[in-house]
Amino acid sequence: MNIYLILLEGNLIGYFIMVESSPLVDNQKRIMSRQSLGLLSAGTMERMLTIVGGGLSGSEAAWQAAERGICVNLYEMRPGKNTGAHESADLAELVCSNSLGSNLVDRASGLLKEELRLLNSLLIKCADQVAIPAGGALAVDRKEFSEVVTETIELHPNINLIRQEVEEIPNLPAIIASGPLTSQSLSRAIEIISGSGHLFFFDAIAPIVSFESINLEIAFRGSRYGRGTTEQGDYINCPMDKHQYDELVKALNTAERIKLKEFDRFQEGGRGVIAGMREYFEGCLPVEVLAQRDEKTLAYGPLRPVGLTNPHSGKRPYAVVQLRQDNLAGSMYNMVGFQTNLKFSEQKRIFRMIPGLENADFLRYGQMHRNTFIYSPDLLESTMQFKKKSGLFFAGQITGIEGYAGNIASGLLAGINATRFISGAPLLSFPQETMIGALCHYISNASAADYQPMKANFGILPALQVKSKLNKRQRYTEYAERSLMVMQAYIEEKDILGQSNHKSD
Ligand SMILES: Cc1cc2nc3c(=O)[nH]c(=O)nc-3n(C[C@H](O)[C@H](O)[C@H](O)COP(=O)(O)OP(=O)(O)OC[C@H]3O[C@@H](n4cnc5c(N)ncnc54)[C@H](O)[C@@H]3O)c2cc1C
Repeated sequence: MNIYLILLEGNLIGYFIMVESSPLVDNQKRIMSRQSLGLLSAGTMERMLTIVGGGLSGSEAAWQAAERGICVNLYEMRPGKNTGAHESADLAELVCSNSLGSNLVDRASGLLKEELRLLNSLLIKCADQVAIPAGGALAVDRKEFSEVVTETIELHPNINLIRQEVEEIPNLPAIIASGPLTSQSLSRAIEIISGSGHLFFFDAIAPIVSFESINLEIAFRGSRYGRGTTEQGDYINCPMDKHQYDELVKALNTAERIKLKEFDRFQEGGRGVIAGMREYFEGCLPVEVLAQRDEKTLAYGPLRPVGLTNPHSGKRPYAVVQLRQDNLAGSMYNMVGFQTNLKFSEQKRIFRMIPGLENADFLRYGQMHRNTFIYSPDLLESTMQFKKKSGLFFAGQITGIEGYAGNIASGLLAGINATRFISGAPLLSFPQETMIGALCHYISNASAADYQPMKANFGILPALQVKSKLNKRQRYTEYAERSLMVMQAYIEEKDILGQSNHKSD
């Protein structure tokens, strides 16, 4: 990369970048906006960062880096090229719900937002500014929200917003924050650097329930034919008699499904799943599609009871829903074979019909939709840096973090760490006791072979060291207090806010 300075009477008034054989060739002679010119100095020349994607994570990352004195080129392909889901040209558009989730600190999403407030997140500040009444949730006027983010980014003297699609991995340092609907060319480029089998195009997610909400007086531990790796059995099994099974199938057949969007039916490069009727990838058919095929399909498929005896009754059940441990701490269990496209409220209603799950606490609902994401456990550090390339960072949904607030959080960390990379400072990895740290740790260390995206939840935090028995609400309050205390101490120890212009006020 060559940087050419533009001098007027000996004073630096601008520059342009020549990037050899770069995908950004059309942009090579771009001159920084007038706002930026006043700030340029020889020192800032080396302090440049490219960010791809002006969504939730990219906008947060850009602002965090810019506030720390980095000149940011933020590429956003809209409105020239759209994703199919976004409707405006604004940055940080909320594509679906206008709620950023709970604002209550003893809820996982509320805790995450409180941590983001401590870290001086731009997007949470904007959301707070345009919040509308929504009980305990942080809901916003979506138009005002993205407008205020766009205006703040556009006016930032260190950010240069470029409306252009990036088709290849840009020169480093860079952050890829192109989201679940990353354009096709860039997806291909990401697949090349990630290695084959490390980029996915669809979620086929089964729900996850918390261990503590499973009724073990009905469900039982065990592996088929006793062939598990642990003595007690690797699975928790929810046994069903014929009547219970028939009722479940009936409910699945009449349940309300999430309506598929056009882009959900689009098959990238001939791979992945087309999530339309009768066009699913056979290996991950939604449970409701299997139920519809024939009344016995589930009983002969994922719910087959072979090799299992119910120790409570001494009999073989008619059908069994198996739950597989999903995290090392054993606090989360995945419903095997239950990937689904049902509405979340329907999942709660119907899956609670399964014996042993009548009070199930759903840490994640099942989903099937287009979602480009990398296999982060192999590819990313918990700093959001790509393992194989120093100076390349990923942020947002493309890392496998779910949820608006989670994506903002990963953008914030990537923006701070890209700045530290440029300054030669050690990268930060937030403590695992914090919700942000736990999320970044989960995606970079998940042990599950069938890695799927994850949102903030208390199951990913390390267990509390408390002697007395606490109920769920008390435990969540304890988690929240610990997280905020650890986060505050970490912010002070690493002087995280001291590195930005605007300390938290
Ligand atoms: C249909 C749909 C509904 C959703 N609903 C919800 C919901 O209700 N709640 C929730 O929490 N999450 C929801 N999500 C997930 C949601 O996308 C994320 O929570 C959040 O928007 C992700 O932030 P991000 O920054 O990773 O991606 P985005 O916010 O999508 O931002 C990525 C940006 O990158 C741009 N881009 C893509 N490719 C390129 C390229 N090659 N060059 C330049 N720019 C590029 C895109 O135009 C986009 O602006 C939904 C996702 C989809 C697809």
